[in-house]
Amino acid sequence: MDFIPIRAYDNYISANLELALLQDAGINCYIKDEYTVTIDPLLSPALGGMKLMVEDSYLAAALYLLQKSDKLFLQTVPCPHCGQFTLEQVEEEIHYNRWIDKIKSLIVNGQEKKVQKYYRCSACQHTFGELPDSIV
Ligand SMILES: [Zn+2]
Repeated sequence: MDFIPIRAYDNYISANLELALLQDAGINCYIKDEYTVTIDPLLSPALGGMKLMVEDSYLAAALYLLQKSDKLFLQTVPCPHCGQFTLEQVEEEIHYNRWIDKIKSLIVNGQEKKVQKYYRCSACQHTFGELPDSIV
């Protein structure tokens, strides 16, 4: 039985909320590096944050539940631009062509490509990097 990291977190509250969601659905999972990152947050970038580890046979179910949970949450957040409840999360992969850019990305992001995440309102097409402070 192998465990696969499917998400990383900077704080234990978000990590444990999603852990509880998966455990309630009967998914075998745990959080790796929770105590190390909580005791010494400066180690978080080096360790890649605390990681939600899921048993490989539950991978598809876990990803489905987390994505469904993210969508339901976003439906409760109004667009800061037009006020509609039509936000969606967008992920774009940025691939580098030059080897020096790949090495820089490997050092900064831990992988050769960069994954850029942001939010977009499907009503007004406004985009923003973070959810409004009053929501979180
Ligand atoms: Zn909008």
